Amino acid sequence: MIYDLSREERRHRAIANEKPAPVLRPQRCACGKAAPAKQLVQHQHCVACLFAARVATLQDDDLDVLHHMLGATGHHPQSRWGFRNEYLANRRDLLALERLVAGGFVRAGTMLLDLRYFHATRDGCKLAGLSAVAARHALELLHEH
Ligand SMILES: [Zn+2]
Repeated sequence: MIYDLSREERRHRAIANEKPAPVLRPQRCACGKAAPAKQLVQHQHCVACLFAARVATLQDDDLDVLHHMLGATGHHPQSRWGFRNEYLANRRDLLALERLVAGGFVRAGTMLLDLRYFHATRDGCKLAGLSAVAARHALELLHEH
């Protein structure tokens, strides 16, 4: 006798085959850039958008402080930017430094009398326009403190 599937069994098999295959949907941030699914689940935005959102919390003058901190100004050739990474804050700069610290671009260092040193983070170096090599150098300077 030739084995034949009953009508009922064929119907069940057809239903089983209709199960949707896992969908490999490309993950995109709201800005349109592709981003790892894990990144979007955890942070809702791509790294570039999160960085931009943090930059948006700063005011124009804050960048002057950051650039000065890293020697990343027109007074120094760009190849030397990052030769220093410290800034002894005076009262006038404290609001700018608060915003830079809150944004993750700067961290507070040691006190000198009633003043405090501040140092650029890796993201601060990036924001100031340092190359990866210059940023690494600027961050290495901190290990000596
Ligand atoms: Zn994005």
